[in-house]
Amino acid sequence: MIRPSVAALEPYVPGEQPKLKRIVKLNANENAYPPSPKIAEALAAFDPARLRLYPDPTFNRLRHLLARRYACKAEQIFVGNGSDEVLRLATDVFVRNAAHIGIFDPTYSLYPVLADIREAPLDVFPLPQSDEALCAFRFPDPRPDLFFLVNPNAPTGTMFGLEAVRALARTLAPSILIVDEAYTLFSGTDCMRLAFEEPNVLISRTFSKAWSLAGLRVGILVGDEALISNLYKVKDSYNVDVLAQTIAEAALSDPGWMEENCRKIVATRERFSAALAEKGWKVTPSHTNFVWCVPPPPLTGRAVLEKLRTRGILIRHFSAKPLERFVRITIGTDEQMDEILSLV
Ligand code: PMP
Repeated sequence: MIRPSVAALEPYVPGEQPKLKRIVKLNANENAYPPSPKIAEALAAFDPARLRLYPDPTFNRLRHLLARRYACKAEQIFVGNGSDEVLRLATDVFVRNAAHIGIFDPTYSLYPVLADIREAPLDVFPLPQSDEALCAFRFPDPRPDLFFLVNPNAPTGTMFGLEAVRALARTLAPSILIVDEAYTLFSGTDCMRLAFEEPNVLISRTFSKAWSLAGLRVGILVGDEALISNLYKVKDSYNVDVLAQTIAEAALSDPGWMEENCRKIVATRERFSAALAEKGWKVTPSHTNFVWCVPPPPLTGRAVLEKLRTRGILIRHFSAKPLERFVRITIGTDEQMDEILSLV
């Protein structure tokens, strides 16, 4: 016996993790640069005997460090096994039976999967094209119980301003708005204030992108203490392992390293975007560590993907219309981006 919704489920397809020898991996928005050397120090000092014991189930050291970073209380922070886990747990907490989940389109392709798992109808609205359009946006009745806004958005790389996101939260209230800020550290701005100023806003962040720790699996949710406390009720007892807690703590002790990597990636992104535009590509201005762009005809997105693949360079292409004209290219090192420019 398999639940019909699971039997029929179209699973989320992550960026390919290939086994080929020479691979330039620009298909999953991972960071081009290694994480802080503080992490190697923490690992060298780690006593494997600690693995005998279960981890701190409520990751207290880690959430106190995070609370200091965001100037809030530790009780306002939840930590998960990647932000993917955090987002899934949020659907358990905030979506009542038969209630809807809402998203804009296009956005992160995990959300429809989360809605299917939860057996929640998904309300999909076209992505507003400006802050003004977002401010004017109104939900039809009944409103979704939970709305996921990715800001800056994936795969488009576009971003709404703080006040436009606040307007969305207010028109959605009392339902919950999760602002998925996986890429915000590449944008120079964020909506974290809304987690403390608007009672229905929660902000998710990840160590996978700006902090160069996709392999670690640590993501967080920040907001009202009474809302956050419910995620603790539904999580696995030990959802963040000892090493993940230790390494995330080490990373947080060295934010300057992460910020310098972000500066390098943003500089490369701007140079790469301008060079593509000069070659006739349509490049969506990006606030992230990837660019969303259309090659000049007769070149197609699929053809670009295939050409780069023969050189061991992986990028992302979505075959669903109308996205199939685009490719999404993660920003790597200057040398990697120069190699792409020499091929397209
Ligand atoms: N949100 C967005 C918008 C993403 O692109 C990703 C990465 N695929 C995630 C969340 C998940 O990140 P994590 O590695 O923390 O699970």
